[in-house]
Amino acid sequence: MTDPTAQTTSAVPELQLDRVAKRYGDNLAVRSITAEIPAHKVSVIVGPSGCGKSTLLRIISGLDDPSEGSVSFEGQLVTGVPEGLAMVFQDYSRSLYPWMRVDKNVAFPLSKVPKKEREERVREALEAVGLAGRSHLYPWQMSGGMQQRVAIARALASRPKLLVMDEPYASVDAQTRGDLEDLLLRIQRQLGITVLVVTHDIDESVYLADHIIVLSTPPSIVAETIDVDLPHPRDHVTTKTDPRYVEIRSHVTQLLRHRELRAVEDAS
Ligand code: ADP
Repeated sequence: MTDPTAQTTSAVPELQLDRVAKRYGDNLAVRSITAEIPAHKVSVIVGPSGCGKSTLLRIISGLDDPSEGSVSFEGQLVTGVPEGLAMVFQDYSRSLYPWMRVDKNVAFPLSKVPKKEREERVREALEAVGLAGRSHLYPWQMSGGMQQRVAIARALASRPKLLVMDEPYASVDAQTRGDLEDLLLRIQRQLGITVLVVTHDIDESVYLADHIIVLSTPPSIVAETIDVDLPHPRDHVTTKTDPRYVEIRSHVTQLLRHRELRAVEDAS
């Protein structure tokens, strides 16, 4: 059995974070993050609440600047939202337009794409998320899980190289969450895109990831990076009872627990 603490050794990284720090006034949120996100894999950033996960995603997506350090996407310094990057947020209800039917919601970012190609991309994206035939519905006629699938379809319709997701399944029930996790794994393997997910959920991180970046308590640094060598396709019963899954899961739990305890001790 390989060591779960082994450092990642993947090919050319899609995304490179080099000593990224973020300060909000006097509050140092992110101390220094250096990490690589490998291409064509699922990477998950996991860490306790408030450790700067969303902050990091905003910086990676070019929506916010680091106070120090830099981010490169395909070797280019990120200074604005990079072409080839698409985002999915936790709050699907705010990311979809309730007055637009599903197909119009998915087509919305494609206004510059010629009509025929646009329709083709919307059709493909809805098919990928299992919503072919639902394009005429309004978001409010759908369940939370279906709405989040529409949000994923919209991101896929731009044919991204890198799909960035911020706690994407935090607002749905456990059953739907499991289904959406499987959907993401299937799409990633079908399309070969690079996926970066941020979550505070340890189970989700191990289930989804090929590569986990564990953050420390704030101001955050990388506590450890872990390659997850669990076989594909994964499923919630077989994968989660695999001794390797249990081993990695407890390792990540210990890492986060240990850091939290240290932070409490330091503060007292
Ligand atoms: P996480 O996503 O891990 O919960 P965040 O990135 O949301 O963490 O926040 C990390 C820290 O940065 C927190 O202390 C938070 O209060 C602070 N923070 C985040 N965004 C802002 C902002 N726009 N202005 C000031 N402080 C912020």
